[in-house]
Amino acid sequence: MTKEELQALSSEFHSTPRERLSQRVKDILDNGNAFIDTHCHIFDNKCTPFGKYIDASSMDTHKSKRVQLKRDINDFFKLLVKESSREILIYYYENFYNINTDILVPLMVDLDKGWVKHPEKGSIKSIGEQIVEIKNIMNDFPIIPFLAVDPHRTKNEKPENDLYANFHKAFTGKNKFFGIKIYPGLGYTPSDDRLDPIYSICNAYDIPVTTHCGTGLIHTRKHFRKTRGKAAFKGKIIPKDYSFYKRNGKRKPFRIIANELNHPDKWEPVLEQYQNLKINFGHYGGKAAWDAYINYPNSETNRVAVINSFAKKYKNRVFADVSTTFTKGHTFQLICDQFNREPIIKDILMYGSDIHVILPFTDFCHQLDSFKKISGKNMELLSVTNPRKFLGI
Ligand SMILES: [Zn+2]
Repeated sequence: MTKEELQALSSEFHSTPRERLSQRVKDILDNGNAFIDTHCHIFDNKCTPFGKYIDASSMDTHKSKRVQLKRDINDFFKLLVKESSREILIYYYENFYNINTDILVPLMVDLDKGWVKHPEKGSIKSIGEQIVEIKNIMNDFPIIPFLAVDPHRTKNEKPENDLYANFHKAFTGKNKFFGIKIYPGLGYTPSDDRLDPIYSICNAYDIPVTTHCGTGLIHTRKHFRKTRGKAAFKGKIIPKDYSFYKRNGKRKPFRIIANELNHPDKWEPVLEQYQNLKINFGHYGGKAAWDAYINYPNSETNRVAVINSFAKKYKNRVFADVSTTFTKGHTFQLICDQFNREPIIKDILMYGSDIHVILPFTDFCHQLDSFKKISGKNMELLSVTNPRKFLGI
C-alpha cells in the first residue's frame, strides 16, 4: 500500500481510545480494581526466534558488556518453545498476573529488518498473521496491544508484511489495536518521513506511541547509511547527509549507533510537528542514564534530563515506563527518591515490566513484589492513574 492509499483511507481509522478497548478490558476498568502493565511482550518462537538472539547479542561487539543470565532460567526456556502468543499469555496469567484485575499492554516486536542478517533466521509468522492472532486473543484476555512499526517495511514487501497495509488491518475492523511501538535502534530515526502518514493518523485519533529508550542491546546489524527525516541531535537538526553509521570514514559499533538512534532528543521534531501525539519513553532512558543523571543532574544531554524537559514542555503528552529499568539494582528506588525534588517525574512515571525479555535475567515474582513495596502509596498512581492518562482511557 502506498502512503497516498493509506491517506485516502484515513477516515476509516475514526475511533476514540475507549472504542478501541475490548469488552474484557472495559469490564476491568469499570470495576475499578485494575493494575496495568504498560510494557510487556507476548511474541512466541514463530514471531521472533528470540533464543537465537540471546547468544548472538551477548557475543556482540563489546565483550565487557556480556549479559549475565540468572542461574535458573527454566521459566524462560518454557516460554521459548511456545509457538503461540496465546500460550505465552496463559503462562503469564498462571504464574504472575491475575486475569480478573491485571491488564497487559503487549508491544509487538519486529526485529527482522534491522537485526536479522539472514532472512531464514527471521520470523516464521508474517506481521499480518500476528495481527490476526492478537486480535483473536483480545476476545479472551484483557490486553491492549501495540503494533510494531518499522519504516523499512514500506517498499518491496510482501502484502502480509507491508507496513501501511498492516497498520490499516490492525486499526480497523472488529478488535482494534490500540497504539504503536517504535524501535529506532533497529536502524531509523523516529522522524523518518515514511512514518509521517502513520503519525498523522495517530495524532488525529489519539493513538499513543511507545518508543524504546533503553539499552542498545537489540540493535540494527545493517548499515542503512541514510538518515531520513529531520531528526534533532543535541538540540540541532541533523544535516541530511549525517551518518549514524560512520564516523571519519570508519564504521561505528552497532551498539553505539543504536544508542544514538534511541536517544530521546530524536523525538523533538515529531513532538513539534504532531501537537496531539502522546509518547511513552520505554525504560525511561535505562539504568546507565539514571545513574549518570543522579550524579550530574544538570547535564542537558542526559536521556532522563531530555525526557523530563520534554515532559514539562509538552504537557500531558510525554510519559516514561520503568520496564527493565526497575529490575536493575536500586534504580527504581532512585527514581522514586526523586519525586519530591522533581514532581514532574510523578506525573509521567508508569509501571511496565518488559516481561519475556527480562525473564532470562531476573526472578520476576521477586521484582514485581519489590516494585509494589518501593512504590508504596504511589503504586496506584504508577500502575493505574498514569497509564490511563497515557492511554487516554
Ligand atoms: Zn520491551
